[in-house]
Amino acid sequence: MDSTASRIVKARQYAEERDRRIKVRSVEVELQGDNGNHLISYEAGKWDCSCEEFSLREVCAHVMAMEEVLGNAVEPALSDVPGIHSSASRIVKARQYAEERDKRFHVHEFEVELHGDNGDHTITYDGGTWRCCCEEFALRQVCAHVMALEEILGDAVEPAMLAVPRMN
Ligand SMILES: [Zn+2]
Ligand SMILES: [Zn+2]
Repeated sequence: MDSTASRIVKARQYAEERDRRIKVRSVEVELQGDNGNHLISYEAGKWDCSCEEFSLREVCAHVMAMEEVLGNAVEPALSDVPGIHSSASRIVKARQYAEERDKRFHVHEFEVELHGDNGDHTITYDGGTWRCCCEEFALRQVCAHVMALEEILGDAVEPAMLAVPRMN
């Protein structure tokens, strides 16, 4: 297997195992909802969303959509309102947003920790610029860790390859 193929296989495996491999430290994302755009942020286990529902209930379909995309890589939003997470209309909307993440979500920035086979790595993304602390990234500006995040987030992020300066 050449290195590109093995990188793709590894990236998929990391993405599939995101629940135990990946821990999100922070993320800021814009979501194009049915009733307007919302800014969702997550830091050190705490969620925030600019929508009205979140300010009332500390959870909303937007945050739940992000939970759906990121799985156990994030802590669930906490709310004191009983049954809030099981409200059917909210779940349906959150799933729809998560399925449509490619056109609904636009990631501004994030910082995640990934437990790779050869150690832990920190991956950051800021307005389209990717970074990973691994050796491969330093050499090629892309690595299996970054590709795993691309796999999870789809078109909600810019592809890492485009960040490489083009040779003219
Ligand atoms: Zn919201
Ligand atoms: Zn890496």
